[in-house]
Amino acid sequence: MHDVIVVGARCAGAATALLLARQGHKVLIIDQDRFPSDMRLSTHLVWHAGADLLQKWGVLEAVRASRCPALTEFSLDLGELVLKGTPPDAQVGAAFAPKRIVLDQILLDAAVAAGAELREGVLLDDLLREGDRVVGITAKNPDGTVMTEQARWIVGADGRHSRVARSVGSTAYHEFPKEAGSLNTFAYFSGVSLKGVEFISRPERMAYAWATNDDQVLAGVMLPGHSPRVARQDTEAFFFAEMEAMSPDLAARLRAGKREEDWISTSVGTFCRQPVGPGWSLVGDAGLTVDPITAAGITNALRDADLLAELLHQGLSGQGDLDATVAAYAARRDAVSVPLHLFSQDMARLAPPTDEVIQLFTGLAHNQAQADRYFGVFGQTVSPADFFSPENMRAITDQAAISA
Ligand SMILES: Cc1cc2nc3c(=O)[nH]c(=O)nc-3n(C[C@H](O)[C@H](O)[C@H](O)COP(=O)(O)OP(=O)(O)OC[C@H]3O[C@@H](n4cnc5c(N)ncnc54)[C@H](O)[C@@H]3O)c2cc1C
Repeated sequence: MHDVIVVGARCAGAATALLLARQGHKVLIIDQDRFPSDMRLSTHLVWHAGADLLQKWGVLEAVRASRCPALTEFSLDLGELVLKGTPPDAQVGAAFAPKRIVLDQILLDAAVAAGAELREGVLLDDLLREGDRVVGITAKNPDGTVMTEQARWIVGADGRHSRVARSVGSTAYHEFPKEAGSLNTFAYFSGVSLKGVEFISRPERMAYAWATNDDQVLAGVMLPGHSPRVARQDTEAFFFAEMEAMSPDLAARLRAGKREEDWISTSVGTFCRQPVGPGWSLVGDAGLTVDPITAAGITNALRDADLLAELLHQGLSGQGDLDATVAAYAARRDAVSVPLHLFSQDMARLAPPTDEVIQLFTGLAHNQAQADRYFGVFGQTVSPADFFSPENMRAITDQAAISA
């Protein structure tokens, strides 16, 4: 009998297992994959709020030691003007973009070092129930035999196609099809010099580039999700034509480098799922999948893990009724994550800027404190609800009028 079984051993699951095992709980973590394992469907930027959590858990040093540079300069080129800024209220004061084979392994090693038991190559099949309560799992071992394990709590950290979510019948809300989101095409390059983290925004498209491990740069372009798909053999020409149109300077720097891996081109449907019920909860993409345009998913997953582990620890150690204590996870997660999810979805439309938006960016160009707060929306140190509140919008335009 385990205290907690965590299904999925990447950023959400490994972090949850790490935090619970450190509190002395008996944790089993399973994954169908074997580790170290990469996960290429991500541009893996971990923003300031995520870096602060990695620091709090004592694993950020290992990220730095993987030769993953601290990212401290951010720019957003809007054509008419370029905004520069740094998210406020961050302790580490940097973002990082460790490859998933690096980040997931660091978290998993720390979880195992804290006492969590890891079983790899194990595929969750279904959940065990007593009445309406989830009490365990059945899974397939690598040799094809069936494994049955019981626990006081089951955590689904099994990604956006979560089998745990399906099995408990978790309800989805704030759901959007992939056509309503962004279509992201990216690759790794070596030999490219960057000017910090670069974002370039134009009507109906966006480009970005940042540094990761192995002295490589990750660069991509984003179009609306309903755009026609480009044939695989035409991806390189498509990418450079888009990049050239948005930023001839960045296109030239990328051309001077060397592409190191195949192109990835993808779009995802997004949603929130009811994240908690009797004996179960969902963390990371299993419970909340956000459009990649704000690169929010990993930071969200780490924050979910932190919150859920705190509540589970309280409940498991008898500081209140277990179900009632963990039930608070739903509202506390959504208070932070839903505004960011809806902001990401709106941004993913890549709509041409309205007069209001042009006025906002003009105001930000002359107001460094507010420009920093705008970057803080992405760094997840400033809530989109606060930043885009009518009072804050008025403060920015009033300040712009005074400066003019
Ligand atoms: C194109 C793209 C770009 C992105 N870029 C960024 C970015 O720059 N920054 C950012 O923060 N986020 C980004 N994201 C989002 C980010 O990748 C996700 O938020 C993150 O991977 C979620 O982590 P997770 O641990 O919840 O789930 P996952 O990483 O999906 O891991 C789930 C794990 O569960 C395991 N699993 C699944 N089913 C089972 C089963 N039945 N039995 C056993 N194991 C199972 C899987 O093997 C896997 O290891 C991007 C996403 C996309 C699509």
